Amino acid sequence: MSPEDITTQTNSDNSHDQPIHLPGSIQPYGVLIALNAELEIWQVSNNTTIYLDKQPQDLLGQPLSCLLATQQIAVIQQCLEKKIGSVTTFKVSITTIDGERYFDGIVHRTSNAVILELEPKNSDDEVSFLGFHGLVSEAIANLQNTTNLDEFLHLVATEYRKITAFDRVMVYRFAEDGAGSVVAEAKREDLSPLLGLHFPATDIPTPVRQLYTQCLHRFIPDLTAQAVQLIAQDANNTPVDLSWSGLRSVDPCCITYHQNMGVAAILVIALIKNQQLWGLISAHHQTPQHLSYELRKICEFLGQIVSSELGHKVIHSELDYEVRLKSLQSEFVELISQADNFIDALIKPQPSLLALVSATGAAVCLDHEITLVGATPNKEQVRELITWVDNHVSERLFSTDSLPKLYPEAINFKNTASGLLLLRISQIQRYYILWFRPEVLQTINWAGNPNTSRQTHIDGSVSLCPRTSFEKWQEIVQLTALPWKQCEIDNALALKNAIIGIVLSKAEELAKINQELERSNRELASFAYAASHDLKEPLRGIYNFSTILIEDYAQLLDEDGIDYLQTVLSLSVRMESLINSLLRLSQLGQTELHRQPTDLNELLNQVLDVINASRQQAQIHLLIPRPLPTIACDAVLVNEVFTNLIINAWKYNDKTAALIEIGSINPQELSNIPKNTSFTVFYVKDNGIGIQAHHYQTIFRLFKRLHSQEKYGGGTGAGLAISKKIVELHGGQIWVESSVGKGSTFYFTLGQ
Ligand code: ADP
Repeated sequence: MSPEDITTQTNSDNSHDQPIHLPGSIQPYGVLIALNAELEIWQVSNNTTIYLDKQPQDLLGQPLSCLLATQQIAVIQQCLEKKIGSVTTFKVSITTIDGERYFDGIVHRTSNAVILELEPKNSDDEVSFLGFHGLVSEAIANLQNTTNLDEFLHLVATEYRKITAFDRVMVYRFAEDGAGSVVAEAKREDLSPLLGLHFPATDIPTPVRQLYTQCLHRFIPDLTAQAVQLIAQDANNTPVDLSWSGLRSVDPCCITYHQNMGVAAILVIALIKNQQLWGLISAHHQTPQHLSYELRKICEFLGQIVSSELGHKVIHSELDYEVRLKSLQSEFVELISQADNFIDALIKPQPSLLALVSATGAAVCLDHEITLVGATPNKEQVRELITWVDNHVSERLFSTDSLPKLYPEAINFKNTASGLLLLRISQIQRYYILWFRPEVLQTINWAGNPNTSRQTHIDGSVSLCPRTSFEKWQEIVQLTALPWKQCEIDNALALKNAIIGIVLSKAEELAKINQELERSNRELASFAYAASHDLKEPLRGIYNFSTILIEDYAQLLDEDGIDYLQTVLSLSVRMESLINSLLRLSQLGQTELHRQPTDLNELLNQVLDVINASRQQAQIHLLIPRPLPTIACDAVLVNEVFTNLIINAWKYNDKTAALIEIGSINPQELSNIPKNTSFTVFYVKDNGIGIQAHHYQTIFRLFKRLHSQEKYGGGTGAGLAISKKIVELHGGQIWVESSVGKGSTFYFTLGQ
């Protein structure tokens, strides 16, 4: 990152280093003079011979007038009234043996000294007002024309590169947790890009951040240049606070770090938003490169404009993002609220569940069913993760940008789910939505030579250097995803509320429909009952009068007439049995179950007795492999089910001997059972004619028969409908499996 980002400040075990603002030395591209309140020279950098033709020792303790003219001293005196760190710049000329020398004088006050820095001035360096205006106004105009933050920051990098002519200019942005990333870059084409790299918060320790907010620019023209010591009259003198000094020397580790990157010169401008360090503009050059003080001031000035413009752009871009998320969310909620199956709607690609919170993968979990969208861990991993969440997380909404640090198994799927945002929609029903983000991977080559990573001092203590710092950085950054923004978390919460609302209103709707259905069912049943009951009377009349006609008036009719009357008679018999079936079914609709413990073996004996009595000629081979259980059921009704099924098994049979097996089995023993079947399954199996698969459902409809009246002993087509009704009254299910020509098995459960 920036020159002081990796510094010994991060290393608590390092006792050899001065605090960053008290290095006791400066960079050699200028002279530093520390003055006391009387403006006497208190400390001076050990390079005055080169710039001022004077030995430092000759200057120490002298009044400033030994160097500067009265007007120049007056400027410095004014500085005493200003607040600490407030910088005044003025032109300085100093007479030396070689003639007049010109400097940029930069002066500010600390708590106990006045610091004067002199940077030699080259006449070519001077930027005229028009030159300055030309440089800045075009950049500002361009920046103001940008419409979004990305474009803006990219232009910032480009404009800075134009002004500084450095090889690479990057814009860093700090996240809420202090970690940083390269968000814009302008560079020489042959250099490899660093755009998108991420850095942990510890790369810039608090004192360094503090310095950046105080001193808006930092310039190191030559990282290889030898630092120059400050010399004081008294060796025990307190070190000079160089917090605001541009010439402050550079930490050796920082030098190594940047040299490993192939960087020789650096200019860093702080970007401040709401008095906080928002980011940095960092310009790197591969060879030593001097920039005049004036040019650096232009860069700093432009940085201030960028900072103030940043406020609007950031707010806009954040608002834009929030608005986009919100509109996505309302579109999404509308879609799922209209869908018949909102889970299906949840996982539809558009508008996407992922885009709602800018995730790369998601899992929708309903009880044991898991549906995956995008890049995710596999279903088993998601299932285990949910179990972990159930045991460790109590919140309804939980988010982390480093799941593997909380749940070590997640290391196995860090590439898809280092970040997790989890929403518990319903605790009772185990409804969850999980969103995932991958590990943010950074590969960085600046780590340097591992052998130089640690410096062991004579006393055995170790100080941190770039390599160690890099490892530390890697450790922190690994297993970490981009953090979840508040607006994304809010969106997830809003989705939860919407889903709960939808589910509730759907349940309400369903309850209403059920009520309505129950009412119309009741009405229908009582109508069917009344209708069939009332129909029986005229029918009986038809039957009776037809019988009388046949018995008493047969001699008056010819053969055809008698035939017709016979048909009327048999039709009325058939109609009566149809009406009876209808009556039975409608009665069932109003019947209350009388469940009581019933030994099904006994019940079956009664059924078989009745069947045998009515069908004596029947050849039935009955097999009951295991005794049946005793269960709580309505014995009269269950008797009816067994009777219907056994008679059917015998009727729809073309074999010389009908084989019928009756039994009970555990649902687990069956491969093909309806959903939610957990009760004992009863079955009636025959070796009859079988049923084609497409009739498996229809045969349970009222009056549905697959054969003509004449075939297989006829029937009303109501037996199975009645059986189904009885089974359902018990809270059970009935279904059939069959093989045409080989036989059928009817299964049913009776709930509990
Ligand atoms: P039905 O009074 O006509 O027997 P059901 O409702 O009991 O009426 O049966 C409906 C139809 O299902 C029957 O007409 C028959 O075609 C078919 N069916 C019922 N049970 C069997 C079976 N065990 N084997 C073959 N077909 C059957």
